[in-house]
Amino acid sequence: MSFVADLEKHLGVSLITDPDITSTYSKDQAPFAPSSPAAAVLLARSTEEISKALAFCSERKIPVVPRGAGSGLSGGANADSQSLVISLEKMNQIIEIDPANQLAKVQAGVINLDLDTAVKEYGMAYLPDPASRDWSTLGGNVATNAGGMCCVKYGVTSHHVRALTVVLSTGEIIEIGKSTKKFVTTLDLLHLFIGSEGTLGIVTEITVNIVPRPRTPATLIATFSNITQAASASTELLKYRPSMLEIIDQTTLKAVEQWHPLGFEVAGSILLLQLDENFELGDSALATCQAHGMVDGMFSTETSDAADLIRVRKLAYPALERLGATLLDDVALPVTKIAEFVEKVEDLADKYKLMIGIFGHAGDGNMHPTIVHDHGDLEGEKRAKLAFSEIVAIAQNLGGTASGEHGIGSIKRDMVGDETSASVLNLQREIKKLFDPSGILNPGKKLP
Ligand SMILES: Cc1cc2nc3c(=O)[nH]c(=O)nc-3n(C[C@H](O)[C@H](O)[C@H](O)COP(=O)(O)OP(=O)(O)OC[C@H]3O[C@@H](n4cnc5c(N)ncnc54)[C@H](O)[C@@H]3O)c2cc1C
Repeated sequence: MSFVADLEKHLGVSLITDPDITSTYSKDQAPFAPSSPAAAVLLARSTEEISKALAFCSERKIPVVPRGAGSGLSGGANADSQSLVISLEKMNQIIEIDPANQLAKVQAGVINLDLDTAVKEYGMAYLPDPASRDWSTLGGNVATNAGGMCCVKYGVTSHHVRALTVVLSTGEIIEIGKSTKKFVTTLDLLHLFIGSEGTLGIVTEITVNIVPRPRTPATLIATFSNITQAASASTELLKYRPSMLEIIDQTTLKAVEQWHPLGFEVAGSILLLQLDENFELGDSALATCQAHGMVDGMFSTETSDAADLIRVRKLAYPALERLGATLLDDVALPVTKIAEFVEKVEDLADKYKLMIGIFGHAGDGNMHPTIVHDHGDLEGEKRAKLAFSEIVAIAQNLGGTASGEHGIGSIKRDMVGDETSASVLNLQREIKKLFDPSGILNPGKKLP
C-alpha cells in the first residue's frame, strides 16, 4: 500500500500488512457490519508514537481506526482497505494505583478486569463491569462509555473517569479532566470524549476512580408468570438501591432450560436482584415481588449461593447463541416502559417468524433483545436485520434510545437521526470538524 513504507520510515517501526493478520484487526464482533482488511496495523507502544502516526495520516488524509480488544458489537472498530488500524493492545501498563486519593492511572490498552484485580490488593475496586470485562480494554470502555450489571447503582464508565490523555488527529497531545475528584474549571471536554467511539481522538491514558470494595452481595431471585409482573416489580425494587437488577423473558429461559435445566421451565419471567449493603432489606424486597405476583422466590446472603442464583443470567446469551446465528440488540428505555417494549418485541418476533429472546438490565432500562435465525438461512438473516432496526424504532417510540451501552458504530448510524434534532446533529458535526479537521478519525462511525 502506498503509505506503508513511508509511515514505517517515519515511525521507525514495522507495520503489520499480512492480510491474514490485518483482517483479524479490522473488525469487531458485530455480525453484519461491513469491513475489509486494513492497509496496515500499528501496534502502538506510546502516546508519542500515536501522535507521530496521526500527524502523518492527517497530512495524507489516511483514515485511522482506533482499536482496543475488538469486542465491540456495533462495527465501531471496523476498517476498510485504505485505513491504518492503531491497536492499543500493547499499551497495557497500569501506571499508578493511589488508594489514598482513590484513583488509578492506566494506559488505554489495560484490560478492565486486570485493573480491578490489581486494585483488589488494596481493598479497592474499579466498578464498571461490562460482561466483556475479562477481555475488553479500558480505552474501548471509555470510547463506548461501557456499562454493566452494577451500573444500576454505580453508573456507567463516564461516572468513573477523572482525566484522559488524548491524541488529536493532527498529532497534538492534550490532557483533559483532572486527577482531582471534582473539577469544573473548564468546559467539560472529558465527557465529550467519553462515548465518542474513536471519532474525536485516540485515548492513550486514563485516570479512573477506585473505591473501597463493596461487600460480597446478597442475591434475590423471583419467578413470575409473565414479564409484565416482573417488570412492574423491578420498577418498585429500585427503592432498595440494588447493585444489580436483571430481567429475563420466557423465550430466553426456555433456551437456558434446553441446555442447562435449572428449574425455570414453567416460569414466564424472572428477576435477579443483588444488594451489596442493607441486607436486612431482602425480606421487604421479596414482599415487593409478592405484591407484584411473584410465583416463587428466595433471598440469600450466602456467598456460595450467589453464583448459583445468577447462573441463569450468565447463561442467557450463550444459550440463545447455541440455537443459531444471533443479532444482539441494545436499547435503553424508561424503566416504566419495559413491559410494553417486551410485548411489542414479541409481536415483532411473530411478524418476522423469528425467535427473539429478551433479557437485560431492568434497573436502568437497558434491554438486549437477541434475534436468533438459522445459520446459513439468508431469508432469515434478512428478516433478522429488519427486526433489529424495528426493535430500535420501538424503543425510540417509547421514549428510549438506539443504544444504551454498545454504541452506534456503523450499524446504527442511520437510526440516530430518528431521535436527534437536525440542529443537535449539526452541532455535533461542527464539533467533529473542530477536533478532526481532516476527517480521518474513524470515518463513517457514530455520526449519521
Ligand atoms: C459477549 C459480549 C458481551 C458484552 N457485554 C457488554 C456489556 O455488558 N456492556 C457494554 O457496555 N458492552 C458490552 N459489550 C461490548 C464491548 O465489549 C464494549 O463496547 C467494550 O467497551 C469495547 O471495548 P474494546 O476494547 O473491545 O473496544 P473495541 O471493540 O476495540 O472498540 C470499540 C470502539 O472504541 C474505539 N476505541 C477503542 N479503543 C480506543 C481508544 N483507545 N481511543 C479511542 N477510541 C477507541 C473503537 O474505534 C471503536 O469505535 C460486549 C461484547 C461482547 C462480545
